[in-house]
Amino acid sequence: MNNKYKILVIEDEANILRFVTALLQANNYFVIAAETAEKGLLMFTSHHPDLVVLDLGLPDRDGTLLLQDIRKTSPVPVMVLSARSEESDKVEALDMGANDYVTKPFGSQEFAARVRSILRSNRHSAEEGKLPGGKFTSGEMTIDYDARKFYIYDTEIKLTQTEFNIIALLSEHFGKVMTYSAISKEIWGYFDSGSTKKLQVNMANIRKKLSLKPGENKFISNELGVGYRMH
Ligand code: CA
Repeated sequence: MNNKYKILVIEDEANILRFVTALLQANNYFVIAAETAEKGLLMFTSHHPDLVVLDLGLPDRDGTLLLQDIRKTSPVPVMVLSARSEESDKVEALDMGANDYVTKPFGSQEFAARVRSILRSNRHSAEEGKLPGGKFTSGEMTIDYDARKFYIYDTEIKLTQTEFNIIALLSEHFGKVMTYSAISKEIWGYFDSGSTKKLQVNMANIRKKLSLKPGENKFISNELGVGYRMH
């Protein structure tokens, strides 16, 4: 069977590595593993995995540095595993191009769902969703980039310029968590102490226009303390 997705897991904690490996194999993925950053990079280069699951706290090198090296040569999706104490590293990793993260300890269902979604959205974001004529569509959403209009089914949702820019930006990174800082820099050109608040206010208005209830994660989910993701 060579049509399985190949997943490289880089994790030094034996228990977690065993857990993740067994889980991915049970979900019919082909798993290769490394316990150090050095071995991980070697395996990445020689095996060309479809997804990298990367622990940030590795014994020989910071996982974010390994991510930097991977990003120099490859857009492969990367899912970061982080401990609570590595909260700021997680944000840094997302800004460096990680696609998603899970915080340890995590449940098997959640983890398997994230892996499925990351592989799916990576496949989709390349072609699907983008329509000819500068449009994007996913499920009930349609974005007309040229006309700067946003629709749910056929109903136009009236957005301000900034709100539209945020929606358009998230759609260009469909399925990926974008940090507050990454969004702010794209939308306003900078990130400072007031940026997150400003972004949250805009996002609250967007959610209101989409008639989303508090906590409802349809279309856009709020990754608490980290950023936003369109899905
Ligand atoms: Ca570790």
